Amino acid sequence: MDTQVNIESISEEIVEKNPGEPEFHQAVREVVNSLGPVLDKHPEFVKEKIIQRLCEPDRQILFRVPWQDDEGEVQVNRGFRVEFSNALGPYKGGLRFHPSVYLGTVKFLGFEQIFKNSLLDLGIGGGKGGADFDPKGKSDHEVMRFCQSFMTELYRHIGENTDVPAGDTGVGPREIGYMFGQYKRITNKYETGTFTGKEVAWGGSPVRFEATGYGCAYFVQEMLGTFDESFEGKTCVVSGSGNVALYAIEKIHEFGGKVVACSDSGGVIRDDNGLDLEKIKQIKEVERGRISEYTDSHEDASYEEGGNIWEIPCDVALPCATQNELQESDAGTLIENGCIAVAEGANMPCSPEAIQAFLEANVAFGPGKAANAGGVAISALEMQQNAGRQSWSFEYTDQQLRETMQKLHATCRDAAEEYGVPGNYVSGANIAGFIKVARALVAQGLT
Ligand code: NDP
Repeated sequence: MDTQVNIESISEEIVEKNPGEPEFHQAVREVVNSLGPVLDKHPEFVKEKIIQRLCEPDRQILFRVPWQDDEGEVQVNRGFRVEFSNALGPYKGGLRFHPSVYLGTVKFLGFEQIFKNSLLDLGIGGGKGGADFDPKGKSDHEVMRFCQSFMTELYRHIGENTDVPAGDTGVGPREIGYMFGQYKRITNKYETGTFTGKEVAWGGSPVRFEATGYGCAYFVQEMLGTFDESFEGKTCVVSGSGNVALYAIEKIHEFGGKVVACSDSGGVIRDDNGLDLEKIKQIKEVERGRISEYTDSHEDASYEEGGNIWEIPCDVALPCATQNELQESDAGTLIENGCIAVAEGANMPCSPEAIQAFLEANVAFGPGKAANAGGVAISALEMQQNAGRQSWSFEYTDQQLRETMQKLHATCRDAAEEYGVPGNYVSGANIAGFIKVARALVAQGLT
């Protein structure tokens, strides 16, 4: 069968088999559409039905999570763990606690995770989980009771060589601590390697907090290097002002770039002198305030409520806030203003049309699968430290992260070149991530 026809019929079959899960369909299409040249070169992947096998998770676990709130009222949530592929190592991926979580969210993120983790080359498979629970506004005791109930079911499916959950939206060191405590109590095992994202004091890794933002900046520095450029002297904009955005800004400033704008869900601040990061950290991390407060102490800066950050001229743009925050028209504005590089710090922040526009205009574009892999890279390094009962220094861990992102960049670049799409990191990431898993699946027989 013609490769294109084959790819289209596979996509259609997957949509039909997984109704009502648009994010999962989008994630599958995005990967599968890059794979034509791979299937042409490797007919064995077609024969072994590797794409169809990867789109069907190894296992999907859905469970009831009953818990009692502070008023003594019984609450019932739904828990998920989708174990997608352990071809390259134990299932690995975060847990997301958010009211919007349903099976389609977990499958979209878990599917992406297979390739992100494969690209890292650190021996981890792909999975994801979570619950439709909202930790916002809950007391510590309520969160603890929820986490304990969640783990009372999940514990039987995880383990340091089986499935290693981590944090994600709504799941930080507090939640990981409560879940680890319950896991330890039920299993009577002190297996720190079963979770990542722990506090440094009991098995966590340094640089976890900074990892995704730093990693994104490292990736972009490598992309710029391919055309003899760097952050030095560049004007940048970074959307968001959360965990990813703040540490991307920190690293860009260290590299000699100047970030002139960032945002939150209320609006955009612009400071042409370069953002005062310490002030923003104070507002967002310490005072839990709004970035609009920045102009109180920085009179030259401006705040625009509901403003569009992509209208601010820049050389490099990093969307680090949320999904679908950068549309085709925004891509057009950035291109017109001379932007030379864009990388996704967030998951799926650019629409497919925006990505296409960047690729057609030869803007260096780093997809999230590669550019925001710093977080899971540090998770894998945390597993290494736990396995060796070691605690690395901040500097050493950061150096490991940088080298990992440099290697990951080279992997994507080389795959794009080898398969005839030089400079296309979207295809490069999908192809390199897929081939590694596909080879392992062929070698391991029909499972
Ligand atoms: P945070 O919750 O720490 O920060 C999100 C930031 O984005 C906040 O400043 C928030 O503003 C802002 N924001 C939300 N919606 C909008 C909007 N519509 N317009 C402008 N700003 C907005 O999240 P993270 O930084 O941890 O994560 C950001 C993204 O990166 C997510 O897509 C996440 O999945 C992805 N990611 C995160 C990783 C990590 O290690 N943290 C790893 C890989 C991916 P406000 O304060 O007003 O809500």
